[in-house]
Amino acid sequence: MTTSTKPRPRAAKSAKATAYRMYIGGKFVDAKGGRAFDVYDPATEEVIATCPESAAEDVDRAAQAAHRAFYGGWKTTTAQERGRVLLRLAERVRARRAELAELETRNSGKPIAESEFDMDDTATCFEYYGGLATKINGEVLPVPADAVAFAMREPVGVAGQIIPWNYPLMMAAWKIAPALAAGCTVVLKPAEQTPLSILELARDFEDVGIPPGVVNIVTGDGPGAGAPLVTHDAVRKIAFTGSAEVGKLIMRNAADQLKRVSLELGGKSPNIFFSDADFENAVDGALFGVFVNQGEVCSAGSRVLVQKDIYKKFVDAAAAKARTIKVGSGLDRSNKMGPLVSAAQRDRVVNYQKVGRREAKVAVGGGVPKEHERGWYVEPTIFYDVDNSARIAQEEIFGPVMSVIPFKDEADAIRIANATPYGLAAAVWSRDIFRAFRVVKALEAGIVWVNHMQPTFVEAPWGGYKASGFGRELGHWGVEEYLETKQVYINLDEKPIGWY
Ligand code: NAP
Ligand code: MG
Repeated sequence: MTTSTKPRPRAAKSAKATAYRMYIGGKFVDAKGGRAFDVYDPATEEVIATCPESAAEDVDRAAQAAHRAFYGGWKTTTAQERGRVLLRLAERVRARRAELAELETRNSGKPIAESEFDMDDTATCFEYYGGLATKINGEVLPVPADAVAFAMREPVGVAGQIIPWNYPLMMAAWKIAPALAAGCTVVLKPAEQTPLSILELARDFEDVGIPPGVVNIVTGDGPGAGAPLVTHDAVRKIAFTGSAEVGKLIMRNAADQLKRVSLELGGKSPNIFFSDADFENAVDGALFGVFVNQGEVCSAGSRVLVQKDIYKKFVDAAAAKARTIKVGSGLDRSNKMGPLVSAAQRDRVVNYQKVGRREAKVAVGGGVPKEHERGWYVEPTIFYDVDNSARIAQEEIFGPVMSVIPFKDEADAIRIANATPYGLAAAVWSRDIFRAFRVVKALEAGIVWVNHMQPTFVEAPWGGYKASGFGRELGHWGVEEYLETKQVYINLDEKPIGWY
């Protein structure tokens, strides 16, 4: 461990604040400039930790470490060894489930039961890619008899990975696991709001056999740490999850070096209810689709499309059930919704609530709960009679705000569902298998659920159509993003070529 002798310009404001260090080249280190930033508990608004605030020089140190680790051995490690490393890491996550889940809830605000699910999914992701590492095969190609040709798969090299704050450790796993399975080394920048869980897990990296420099975690904000990662010479590929705005910036900034880019950018996903759907289940599914994780979900079913003959009954039932959702500290198991991640995100959602009150009718919520003196809470909110062209139907809010939109028939539902720039996810609820499958085929979205919304499995591809980005995570698709394909041709004919 290195110790910075320089003072922290923004010292911890709470006696309970832990000074974290970031992880570069197998060591926990401070930023070269000695700066640090505060990390909060969104339920108490207290500073619970400080983290090094990286600048370009720190990102450079991490990228160099990843470069050395790639050429110094990781590239040529056996697939079996890489797989075992990931399997051992999964075991650590399972062993530390309670501790990591509690930290995740303290730092992100989400209900503890959801953090526990996230830890299980994180472990499963490491396991899946631990197994997949030994199944990355090339292909032998049917060229004429006097030659042999094949396609080999090789790691891209150093991968720069930039993730958001909504599923902190899980997003880190979705990025790190396939990269390591492919043989890449990594520089990962967590969101400035939620760097703690991955830094905690990094304590186990050496023990599970991750060599120094193979995974580096740099903490800091987007402009200070994310931007220099995107343009660093040693970084061959950028994998990003976050807002469309930053996604565009990353694509532009990566263009000069023709860097490979994959983008997962969220959406405005439709959750479509036909009148023949199981009513009780449908109401639950509508709420779960957009209120899980306080609505801070890229695939949130934020547009709820309801067929006209059940529309009124549906809005009433959804509002009645939403009123029963207990909002409060994620550490209290009776709460089903925690605070939003930051004051800025709370303000952003409160602003959209204002916009919504102008654009549509309020069925429930529309403000901040009165009973909390501290914490960045907002009320679960349902707007109805929303026009699909309204801002609350077109713009990603990333909070617990549902926009209910009526539709007449199947064609009307499909037209409205596809009428946004996004195309990440969608769900359709109906007992009519003919109709459900017709709608599935007509939806322009990378993920479509039938009679549910949000179940996510590491085996299945995750990513969007249209402005929701490109590239796919999870499943065998996930590892493709970290592989190059090399064509090899071997001439077996010893005759002179004889062309000149
Ligand atoms: P964001 O700005 O897109 O941030 C995502 C990640 O990109 C963070 O690690 C961020 O760093 C980093 N970043 C920001 N500017 C960058 C730059 N110039 N170069 C490289 N990296 C950069 O998202 P946010 O600020 O957390 O949230 C803003 C809105 O984005 C949300 O309200 C929501 O609508 C949307 N969002 C969507 C998703 C999704 O999964 N689709 C996830 C999160 C947010 P810092 O944040 O540390 O500065
Ligand atoms: Mg940000």
